[in-house]
Amino acid sequence: MNTQRSHQLFEKAQTIIPGGVNSPVRAFKSVGGNPLFIKSAKGAYLYDEDGNAFLELINSWGPMILGHAHPEIEAAVQEAIRGSFSFGAPSAREVEMAEMICRMVPSVEKVRMVNSGTEATMAAIRVARGYTGREKIIKFEGCYHGHGDSFLIAAGSGVATLGIPDSPGVTQGVANDTLTAPFNDLAAVQALVDANQEKIAALILEPVVGNMGCVTPLPGFLESLRQLCTKEGIVLIFDEVMTGFRLAPGGAQELMNIQPDLTTMGKIIGGGMPVGAYGGKAEIMNMVAPAGPVYQAGTLSGNPIAMSAGLTMLRILSQQTHVYQQLEQSTQQLAGGLLEVMKDAGIPASVNQIGSMFTLFFTDHQVINFETAKKSDTVRFGKFFRAMLEQGVYLAPSQFESMFVSTCIGKTEIDKIVDAARKSVKLL
Ligand SMILES: *Cc1c(COP(=O)(O)O)cnc(C)c1O
Repeated sequence: MNTQRSHQLFEKAQTIIPGGVNSPVRAFKSVGGNPLFIKSAKGAYLYDEDGNAFLELINSWGPMILGHAHPEIEAAVQEAIRGSFSFGAPSAREVEMAEMICRMVPSVEKVRMVNSGTEATMAAIRVARGYTGREKIIKFEGCYHGHGDSFLIAAGSGVATLGIPDSPGVTQGVANDTLTAPFNDLAAVQALVDANQEKIAALILEPVVGNMGCVTPLPGFLESLRQLCTKEGIVLIFDEVMTGFRLAPGGAQELMNIQPDLTTMGKIIGGGMPVGAYGGKAEIMNMVAPAGPVYQAGTLSGNPIAMSAGLTMLRILSQQTHVYQQLEQSTQQLAGGLLEVMKDAGIPASVNQIGSMFTLFFTDHQVINFETAKKSDTVRFGKFFRAMLEQGVYLAPSQFESMFVSTCIGKTEIDKIVDAARKSVKLL
């Protein structure tokens, strides 16, 4: 495979961008090799600067659930562009967007638009703190909630991949207010709550985790957290930046039938544009300025182009709910196919899959939390990643990420990926 142009770009990028990339996991550090520079994408395919085509399972880390350059979203953006790119004043599309979100995610009664998932989670804990008058939060080891200071404690994928336990630059004071527990461990959460009576403002989690690889909650875990938070006056925040609009039109909370107090959203909600949102119970959201005293703002929040892309995306997903069954089926087939390849080759592996998210872990342990995820053979994953790339299949470049399946992955694509895996395992 000729990657000369990507290589040149990476060399140059490293001289003027830290590590040559604008988000760490893109640098391929945990899988080896150099990152590819992408020129364009369409449907299920990425095209790099050297003209190589890749069948891909990242989908921009989630947003492109309908595949790349979806014609309806493209048309909506083109139409919006003619009316200028930003107003910094209210517009009708923001009202439509808020209505759409409240309809699709019933626990959300009021919602505020922001520009990224990171902004959404940072604001959500500020609101929870303002609402409860308490300071501490609980998060789970391996869950990622963006790069806000409070969350860079046992933060999963990007951070785990680079082996930075806690980022320098996060003050001890901030770190002291973030308590962590292993995912799926109710007793550990209960112990934290008992030791910090009336001090915990919020418990934040990915209801289905994507950021230590795909990890699902054990039966009863989310229900128990809901009960505990209600009893203790703790704001339960579901970070659905990844799972929102992906696992069901109403996200993981719809699929699992649990109502959080606040929800954070991102990724799919912008249809590929930089959009995030946080929302929930009106009583809590009324704390947000200018309705209430908790400050949060954004020059480009509710941007008209971004709203057009996101609104069109959500409209399609809310109208064509059969896509969720289709995604579940194709993802099951794909994940099952890959696991079979590993079994046939005698390679220890396990798969976690739910809806259109899955991770193939190179361990035969069942992965239920960050500790068990870390038992995976990451060197083998790196080899597998590079072998697949040679075969024209672009996987997520870390063992601790979820793959995302789009509606553009059908039988032909699944066969192609499984076939590539069969060839790739010979090199492991
Ligand atoms: C991606 C992600 C974020 C951060 O969103 P950005 O838009 O990258 O800031 C937060 N939480 C979860 C669960 C995510 O997957």
